[in-house]
Amino acid sequence: MQPLRSSLQALAYASVRVLAAALLGALLGLLISHPWLGMAGVLAVYLGWQLVMLYRVEWWLQHRSVADPPETRGVWGTVIALIARLHRRKRFHKLRFVQLMRQLQQSTAALPNGVVILNDEREIVWFNHMAGRLLGLRPNIDLGLRIENLVREPQFARYIEKGDYANPVVVRRSSPNEIFLSLQLVAYGDGQQLLLASDVSRQMRLEAVRRDFVANASHELRSPLTVISGYLETLSHDPALAAEFAVPIVEMRRQAERMTAIVRDLLELSRLEQTDERVGGEPLDVEAMMALLRKDVLARAVHPRDVRVRVESTAALIGREPEIHSAFANLVDNAAKYTAPEGSLEMRWWVDADGGHFAVTDTGIGIPAEHLPRLTERFYRVDPGRSRATGGSGLGLAIVKHVLQRHGADLEVRSTPAKGSTFTCHFPPERVRPAQRAALAPLAEDA
Ligand code: ADP
Repeated sequence: MQPLRSSLQALAYASVRVLAAALLGALLGLLISHPWLGMAGVLAVYLGWQLVMLYRVEWWLQHRSVADPPETRGVWGTVIALIARLHRRKRFHKLRFVQLMRQLQQSTAALPNGVVILNDEREIVWFNHMAGRLLGLRPNIDLGLRIENLVREPQFARYIEKGDYANPVVVRRSSPNEIFLSLQLVAYGDGQQLLLASDVSRQMRLEAVRRDFVANASHELRSPLTVISGYLETLSHDPALAAEFAVPIVEMRRQAERMTAIVRDLLELSRLEQTDERVGGEPLDVEAMMALLRKDVLARAVHPRDVRVRVESTAALIGREPEIHSAFANLVDNAAKYTAPEGSLEMRWWVDADGGHFAVTDTGIGIPAEHLPRLTERFYRVDPGRSRATGGSGLGLAIVKHVLQRHGADLEVRSTPAKGSTFTCHFPPERVRPAQRAALAPLAEDA
């Protein structure tokens, strides 16, 4: 309220001063018998003074960073004081902003991770030192260029194309040295994005060591297990074997079979984990595969009474036959294992605008909701005792997940305890080929 009151006061003083000047002019004019002339003369001088002040204020405004404000009182003094105050406030905020920017730049520059600011066209606006080093970006030169033109790894292109930035993507760069980068886009503001980059080479190397260890250990275990299983088989058929050994031998054979299954699944998983690259494949006859899977279920000693196959499309699925067969067989095997003989099992294949879908539905024991997110982890079992009793390795769904990942597909699980489960594999449209074109050349591998 203070400036307004002083402005009003200054205005009142100015009005009084104009009136006084006019009066004085009129009095002086009376001396020469021309009061109006006197008044006009004095007002002209007053106007001239105002013009001079206007010029001085204007000059000061233009040079206010170097010059002091004109020393004056009255209306002009108030105006100048207000302008000076606004100017001081602006300078204070500007300084604070600059300081904040500097701190922000210094802290992001010191970050051990790369940060790239992208605009809504994904063009580079700014990047820190680490981003320059990890992604090979050149200061100034690469500003304004689209990030996908500079980071050209296929995994990153697919990540952008998919538009799902919830998780980072790991890309391998081979020049100048081999390095694994974890890249993640984070949306902010009005369409802008942050690209966060970190070097995960160490983790990837450790992961490779772990994979090799599991693969080698499984490989080494295979031969002794084959020998043990062979001897146990011979022993179990030996008529000279003492009766008290019959039960232990049967149990040992069962355990040896379980170990063989675990080793087989571990080896398959290690092979699938060798690379995350997408695989090509050939058009597969899903209907024929489902008929075979149905036969396998019916060949089990115990199986659900009702095993149905619903083929709603004759379209072929493009994939690697051994992998797809293994994934589907694992799902069907689980459904058979975890469903009572009086229950039912259904396999379904259909195609729509979203792609091809293979579902296995059972009326078995179901899975409580809290277990669903962890189901595809290695050795994760809802009921370990039951899984072991059915000869499960605990690796089936991990294999399914990897196979689907390699084919660009997702696994969806819906389940209600004591009612049953549905496991659905969703394949993207490019993995589906209409029946009449099934004989065309196989899809090229994305090596
Ligand atoms: P396992 O060899 O133990 O079956 P999987 O990886 O195939 O291992 O499955 C992991 C766990 O998920 C199983 O132990 C089981 O508890 C649960 N599961 C998988 N499929 C079904 C199903 N159709 N019905 C009920 N539970 C299931």
